[in-house]
Amino acid sequence: MSFETLAQQILEKGREFDEMSWAGKKERTNRLLRKQIELCAKFHPFYRKMFQECGINPMDIRSVDDLECLPLTKKQAYMAQPEDFKLQLNEGSGYERVIYDITYTTGTTTGVPTPFYSTTHDILAVMEQFIRTCRFYGIHPSRDVLINLYPMSMVPHIGFRNSTMIGWPAGIPVINTLPGSQYNEFPMSNPLDWCVEVIEHFKGTVVRGVSSFIRKVVMRAQELNKDYSSMRFVFCLGEATPKMMREDIRRRFQSLGAKGIKVFTNYGFTEMQYSTFECAENGAYHNFMSDYVFFEIVEPETGRRVQDGREGHVAMTHVNRRGTILLRYLTGDLCSVKHDRCPMCEREGQRFTMMPYRTADLVKIKGTLINPQLIQQELAAVPWVGEYQVVFSKEDPADPLSLDTLIVRVAPEKNAPSQEIMEAVIKRQIKAVVEITPRVEITATPEDIFNPEKSLKAARIVDERPRLEG
Ligand SMILES: [Zn+2]
Repeated sequence: MSFETLAQQILEKGREFDEMSWAGKKERTNRLLRKQIELCAKFHPFYRKMFQECGINPMDIRSVDDLECLPLTKKQAYMAQPEDFKLQLNEGSGYERVIYDITYTTGTTTGVPTPFYSTTHDILAVMEQFIRTCRFYGIHPSRDVLINLYPMSMVPHIGFRNSTMIGWPAGIPVINTLPGSQYNEFPMSNPLDWCVEVIEHFKGTVVRGVSSFIRKVVMRAQELNKDYSSMRFVFCLGEATPKMMREDIRRRFQSLGAKGIKVFTNYGFTEMQYSTFECAENGAYHNFMSDYVFFEIVEPETGRRVQDGREGHVAMTHVNRRGTILLRYLTGDLCSVKHDRCPMCEREGQRFTMMPYRTADLVKIKGTLINPQLIQQELAAVPWVGEYQVVFSKEDPADPLSLDTLIVRVAPEKNAPSQEIMEAVIKRQIKAVVEITPRVEITATPEDIFNPEKSLKAARIVDERPRLEG
């Protein structure tokens, strides 16, 4: 049999689920959920106790629609006792019992990373999702080369792990570039220019990484006049990537010969173990693994589910896992979901209608709530803006009661106009979207704002204001 035929066979794995109607998908999900709940009732320290204390009969949960009778799980509960969320399985095969992998949540609440355990069963399930992704985008072993621009960080990170492994099941080559900060004992990280060279040398077709870093790489590639005509897809992950940021990244790749390049983002996090993907740029975020994680949109006070298309809090339920398991877990994000046929790609199944967002992302300045992403969008749209940072500060930093002030720091590119014009343009653009005129600071070098050799993400939004008690 030829390479092509065998590759095609591999890429068929799990296809039945893709092609099911929502009713079919839901039936499979329900069957797996019943098994998951049964395991939790027997072997999950946190949920076994919860079922007993709340008088919940696990047999009553027959379908995803019955999830409403379970209380919501708060992030704090999992972060306080992560070991209690790990299944203590004493039956089944080694696939289900052996811990194969640990990733960590970033610990936004406590500052301490929380371990999330996966058994071999769980990792193989994620492998199947990788095949679904390749099929979804038409990524193929005979034509694609994946470039992983994630750093190997001190704490095992889901973005790095998935970008390393995504090519495994379908035999698609992955080049890991290992950028990022250095561990002095074993300095294994590589410089920015290595990442830039690798894409050209291996004729990379798909790049995955943190948006700011990808932008950094392509900006450097422009300086070195690289040939990136092989590039087909950019996956901007790990941080908010406003529309204009995508456009900026696209323009830069196009200038290096990547004519038809597509720039996608996703919605994913450690506890999900994988991510939803856009069917089109700025399209819906499809959960093509709803037989693995199921999402509900809920009212956080009552746990009641809201109607399809209505906005509410995102709650996630694992349906087919054996390591760490979370049921109706509040992610802290807001969004709406739909299950009917997607108007853009005609797929049926669970999808977020837009990128879920966090209420905590809104910032109050001078008494007005604003969305800093709007400012980011404006800045990313200015062609001569290289790196940028939005800072919320005080007029007199020594006086916590002085007026709030908005500072925009910009590192210009070579083609920038005079300082006077730069300041005037930025002030006008920002005022137009948030009705506040910023103070503009022009920095000497881009590294004054973002140095990829020191940190994984650019700190685009910084709130320097002291928190006042009471
Ligand atoms: Zn779609």
